Amino acid sequence: MTYPQVDPQPNFPRLEEGVLARWERDNTFAASVAAREVGTNGDNEFIFYDGPPFANGLPHYGHLLTGFVKDAVPRYQTMRGRHVERRFGWDCHGLPAEVEAEKELGIAGHPAIAAFGIDKFNDACRTSVLRYTDEWQRYVTRQARWVDFGNDYKTLDTPYMESVMWAFRTLWDKGLIYEGFRVLAYCWRCETPLSNTETRMDDVYRDRQDPALTVAFTLETGEKILAWTTTPWTLPSNLALAVGPDVDYVAVKHTDGNTYLLAEGRLGAYEKELEGAEVLRTVKGSELAGLRYTPLFPFFADTENAFVVLNAEFVTTEDGTGVVHMAPGFGEDDQNECNAAGIPTICPMDEHGQYTAEVTPWAGRHVFDANTDVIKTLKEMGVVLRHDSYNHSYPHCWRCAEPLVYRAVSSWFVQVTKFR
Ligand SMILES: [Zn+2]
Repeated sequence: MTYPQVDPQPNFPRLEEGVLARWERDNTFAASVAAREVGTNGDNEFIFYDGPPFANGLPHYGHLLTGFVKDAVPRYQTMRGRHVERRFGWDCHGLPAEVEAEKELGIAGHPAIAAFGIDKFNDACRTSVLRYTDEWQRYVTRQARWVDFGNDYKTLDTPYMESVMWAFRTLWDKGLIYEGFRVLAYCWRCETPLSNTETRMDDVYRDRQDPALTVAFTLETGEKILAWTTTPWTLPSNLALAVGPDVDYVAVKHTDGNTYLLAEGRLGAYEKELEGAEVLRTVKGSELAGLRYTPLFPFFADTENAFVVLNAEFVTTEDGTGVVHMAPGFGEDDQNECNAAGIPTICPMDEHGQYTAEVTPWAGRHVFDANTDVIKTLKEMGVVLRHDSYNHSYPHCWRCAEPLVYRAVSSWFVQVTKFR
């Protein structure tokens, strides 16, 4: 047998197109499935449900790369003699669908959607989610994948949704579903928590100037401990202070008669405010743990186990005073450390970012607007050592560009650790 002439500089894309044309002509994929028996009760079957990607955007490299793996495994099983049906799927739910529909309709956020009408909005989502199915089929076929587009599934199909409900119900029956009150990134304009993925998107972190306040808390010893914060609006719900167990702290006698405690490494940053102060002693953070202090505000003064100095490993001396003000309703670290010390999560902010009735002087005020009044009140109380502003990289909502807050929100969780 003589071999055909081989071009020393072959055109690979053309070779690929030749193979694809032959597969299409001979119906090779369908034949490879039909030629293999399903077996008794399907015991020779290997079932593959692809995806599902969103079809309201085009495929990117991530889809293409994983697509080759998704193709290699079913081909391997086919070569082993298995009957391998491969159904393609489409994801029609969740944020990508909503965001695309919002763009098309020129509206943004939960209140705008509610005003537009949820049923009308759902219709717009339904028409937008399958926009690029033809392009997807072309890309996936061109990369030489064998997958069945004719017998596809969609997450908006009722049987699909019922299967998800069945799975959730089964987890519930097994006692694996629980309601949690966890601190999440939250947009008060869109009235929705944001996932970790959404807070890691490009352009989410932007420079923002916030007030920076150094506040004195009175310890049971009569000494004052200095904490620094860029969210003065969280001070009404302060429930603890955190110090680093291995960090050195100094007690300094100020010319105003008070003794202040702060990290030794931060003394230089307060040169001006502490001018003429005399260092009395140095202590490790571990020795400060357990000291109680007087709450700044009366709103949550009865909270059990609160108003105590805690040790926390995350405390650094990079900025501030080396003492962290903790409001467990508004910070993930704050919540973890406080809850571990038996201090409950208290979150006096409503879904619009306004103080709830518990914070009596500013109830109904947006927390960012109330910042100035909170600072003014603290100054009148004589507890502010320094007030300046701080430029930092702060997360913003990628939909509406408003600055996010961290807020304890009630959500449902699966206890994955119980069965993994
Ligand atoms: Zn938003």
